[in-house]
Amino acid sequence: MQPHLDVTGTSRERRNIVTATTVTYDSGGNDPAIKKLVLVLMAFGPLALAPWVVYWGISAGLLVWWIDIPLIVFFNEWRGLGVTLGFHRTLTHATYQAKAAWNEGGFALHPWVRMFFLIGGHLAIQTDGEGWGWLHRRHHSDSDGPHDPHTPWRYVDEDQLKPGMPGYKWALLKGIAWAHFGWMLRSWAPEERFYKGFAEDKQLQWCRRHYGKLILFSYLGPLCIAAVLKVLLLGGSEWNTERLVASVLFSGLCAGVLNIAFVHHITWCVNSLCHTFGVRPFQKVGSDRSTDLPLWEYGPLGKAAALWFAFTSNGEAYHAGHHAFAGSPKHALAWKWHLDITWYLIRLLAYLNLAHVSGVPSNEQIRRRLVPSWKPPE
Ligand SMILES: [Zn+2]
Ligand SMILES: [Zn+2]
Repeated sequence: MQPHLDVTGTSRERRNIVTATTVTYDSGGNDPAIKKLVLVLMAFGPLALAPWVVYWGISAGLLVWWIDIPLIVFFNEWRGLGVTLGFHRTLTHATYQAKAAWNEGGFALHPWVRMFFLIGGHLAIQTDGEGWGWLHRRHHSDSDGPHDPHTPWRYVDEDQLKPGMPGYKWALLKGIAWAHFGWMLRSWAPEERFYKGFAEDKQLQWCRRHYGKLILFSYLGPLCIAAVLKVLLLGGSEWNTERLVASVLFSGLCAGVLNIAFVHHITWCVNSLCHTFGVRPFQKVGSDRSTDLPLWEYGPLGKAAALWFAFTSNGEAYHAGHHAFAGSPKHALAWKWHLDITWYLIRLLAYLNLAHVSGVPSNEQIRRRLVPSWKPPE
């Protein structure tokens, strides 16, 4: 079904329009129950499984830290940076084609580097790059407005429901759940205007053609690599076959299915938390309510949580800066100290002549967009 804002559609279409507020929010179309079930199992099954797997692996002596930790970190960063650098900062927001842009200047990654991170983005299994990119462009086109597929504010009518009023917290909580996961249980019909550059992007189209194989590799690749490494490096020692097999399975679960779900939830936290909590250093434009998530005003615990989230999201936590300057490859624009790891990686790639950097706003451009009283904490 075509997502739309027209309430004169069929009765089924009308049911898909939420009118919880004076603004009418788009709710997408219905999806088959089986697809919803698979998505719920993929998203929450591994979360329930994780404590048991970790307990089992450690208590049974299956963790080989010098093999398992590098394997988990490698796949976590390949998937995570694949989403932040591959899908988000280049594919979605940089209007270029790999080779042309590399030759012409502008923000671009070396084609081989770009391909590596595009594959990483697909290994995160958050739909293919085209699906990810156009929905994210749609999010930016009407951030926190009625056409935004995942705003946490869709159930809060600002004219009638103020903070502290009965029902406010519940409406916001419902919105956070929608922004984090609920919106993915709906179908969003493609809109031509958000597809610019995708069809001609050979690297993207290669990944799309091989997406099925990449999914298979994401789930089973870590297990196969662990099997080779552990058999070669531990076989013949005091490890018997049974313990070796269990240890390989443990590696495969941690660097595969559990890590895929971990990267899912970190990405979704940007949609849910980074439009709700935190601070807004930039002047409001339209309905946008994006935030940066160094939670300085929440005391030491908030700071620790914010640092952890900035770290695990590879810098996507500085979301207000990103919404203020969507074309900038640097997101942490309002802070003296930050953990925008994707930006540090871009700087490193540029130093190695594997990236061309441009599009970062000047201090003066940033100052003009900041709330006049804004001062970054020392
Ligand atoms: Zn956003
Ligand atoms: Zn974006």
